[in-house]
Amino acid sequence: MTLAEKEIKKFENHNCAEDALFYQAMEEVIYSIAPLLESDEKYTKYAILERLVIPDRIIKFKVTWLDDNNKIQVNSGYRVQFNNALGPYKGGLRFHPTVTEGVLKFLGLEQILKNSLTGLPIGGAKGGSDFDPKGKSDFEIMKFCSAFMTELHKYIGPRIDVPAGDIGVGGREIGYLFGEYKKITSSYEGTLTGKPYFFGGSLMRPEATGYGAVYFTQTMLEMENKEPLDGQICTVSGAGNVALHAIEKLQDIGAVVVSCSDSRGTIYDARGVDLALLKDIKLKRRASLEEYCKVHNEGKYIPVAEYPEGGHAVWDIPCYAAFPCATQNELTEVDAKALITNGCVSVTEGANMPSTPDAIDLLQTHKVCFAPAKAANAGGVAVSEFEMSQNASMTKWSYAKVDEKLKETMQMICKRVALTAKDYGVEGNYVHGANIAGFKKVADAMIAEGI
Ligand code: NDP
Repeated sequence: MTLAEKEIKKFENHNCAEDALFYQAMEEVIYSIAPLLESDEKYTKYAILERLVIPDRIIKFKVTWLDDNNKIQVNSGYRVQFNNALGPYKGGLRFHPTVTEGVLKFLGLEQILKNSLTGLPIGGAKGGSDFDPKGKSDFEIMKFCSAFMTELHKYIGPRIDVPAGDIGVGGREIGYLFGEYKKITSSYEGTLTGKPYFFGGSLMRPEATGYGAVYFTQTMLEMENKEPLDGQICTVSGAGNVALHAIEKLQDIGAVVVSCSDSRGTIYDARGVDLALLKDIKLKRRASLEEYCKVHNEGKYIPVAEYPEGGHAVWDIPCYAAFPCATQNELTEVDAKALITNGCVSVTEGANMPSTPDAIDLLQTHKVCFAPAKAANAGGVAVSEFEMSQNASMTKWSYAKVDEKLKETMQMICKRVALTAKDYGVEGNYVHGANIAGFKKVADAMIAEGI
């Protein structure tokens, strides 16, 4: 039995339906860091792995709120405070009916290593609720956010835990959460990031994850001696915060983005997607992508029912570079085969863990450049930390300054990941590089801070 297999066996109790995503994320980390554990016995001596994969605490609470018909609604709320060896707990809040403790544990574990890779003083956490914002009125969203914060405020603070957005939580929700926090605590402080700009947000926070993923890809392609993205066909999945801004930056640099998707279907527009229309549909009208073809009838709408078996319509479209930016496990082995057959050169994870382990193996075996989420989508949390800095010093940075620092951060992460992979004998494997570099920094801090 290899060292990695022995370590994984210790956590077998997580190999169950409820913790399936967490187990998937943990298994990948353990396989990646095995060479590090073998190279220095201190990580085993100080039981770092056991201490890292168990969150410091999981806070679970009831959220009771009144809907527009004055009916009482009840949801579950969570905050998983995972690790604060490098700084205050930091990570987003997700509002989606699929949210469970297991989902938040997977996201929290990824977040610790991602935050470590940024080189910034932030620990890892994640939270959220099984509340479904879809179809809710603005007042219902406000009432839910207030009720959620009534409980959450007890556990957070600018030096304790700083939540941000994620699926279902954008500027509107962060605004309501911040308003309630301010009311309860009588304190105007940067306890939440992703705030709208005019009351404490950072310029470029909404764009940061998507733009950052593109900056990462540019650096990776250059380092791997591949053609740059300008003029190339790119496919993007999702139509939320990350996807829309990845599309925006790709179009900015001259790439042709031909797809996007939501939970109901995919748009394929060979002439390049109309971003202004997408923003209108998804951000203003909060409607389905089906609306797109009512304006552009040359575009094709593919409903989920017509997706390839075991796959996703977006990855069936030939492209030079692919950007999964919607949700976990949305790019399967079937999709990886289609991408390889169609000559795809690089895959960049904008979403958290969007590719299944089989898909990653296949892509890497076929020498497709593969940028894992914890490195490629770290731009969002990096700019969140810039927002914390601006709030703490009561200053505002210019757009150009944030953009320059974001670019620098993404280039630094990419180079560090590539270099780490090389140092540990797995050159070109950005998954192993990211896990080792992210883990090592947190582990060394944990050892230095004692138990
Ligand atoms: P949004 O809520 O803004 O958008 C999510 C998008 O994904 C929507 O288009 C949504 O479709 C689609 N989607 C959600 N769930 C599913 C599903 N089960 N099947 C198919 N499509 C789905 O979220 P974000 O853009 O903020 O987040 C996207 C991903 O990026 C997530 O994995 C998140 O954890 C990750 N991420 C986000 C960061 C950020 O800064 N926002 C930072 C780092 C990572 P529909 O409109 O139909 O709901």
